[in-house]
Amino acid sequence: MAQRHHYGSFNSHNRKTCGLGIKTSSGKLGAETVSALIKLMEHHHIDFVRLTPTQDFLLLGLKKNSLPEVIEGLHALDLQTAPGPLRLHSTACTGLTYCKFALSETKEFTEQLLKRLEQRFPEWEKPLTIAVSGCSHGCSHPFVADIGLVGCKIKDPSGESVSGYDIYLRGRLNGTDSRFAERNGIRLPSYAVAGYLENLLEQLS
Ligand code: SF4
Repeated sequence: MAQRHHYGSFNSHNRKTCGLGIKTSSGKLGAETVSALIKLMEHHHIDFVRLTPTQDFLLLGLKKNSLPEVIEGLHALDLQTAPGPLRLHSTACTGLTYCKFALSETKEFTEQLLKRLEQRFPEWEKPLTIAVSGCSHGCSHPFVADIGLVGCKIKDPSGESVSGYDIYLRGRLNGTDSRFAERNGIRLPSYAVAGYLENLLEQLS
């Protein structure tokens, strides 16, 4: 999907300071991470933070000579300034933990899924949007993603109802070249999705 992004460092308008775009872990920051982030900002006199529509954030007004130390501190908190192509545009909705409509957990699921795919395909270059939603409301926009995962309930082999995902493929959000993803008819329990996507990416690579 052709999309702008804002990760990494950039000069501010006055060129005296710079900004830094940071990718969160599937749009979630725990209290300990937020607390450590605030301390890092205070230590480096960073006064401005802006949230983005992609569940990420920008730090603004950094002194240029503090940039390496700030980036090192962010990486120690598992916050990325140069996300790889599998993670760059991928998002997860609120999901089961906080949303009453959700049928599947999304945040931890997405993080584990991305880590597994990044380990399996370390040389992957083409940006790929994986959008995970806990229900068919589609708040992470799975219906215009390369790979859309939409939460559902499914019976596992023992007959027990478990959380899973419907698979949607080949969506795109790119001006007049946009198109809706197609449901491919495959519905998997959550634990089986990573293996399925590994096989899919193997065919695409
Ligand atoms: S897609 Fe469904 S589960 Fe996810 S935030 Fe929206 S309403 Fe909630």
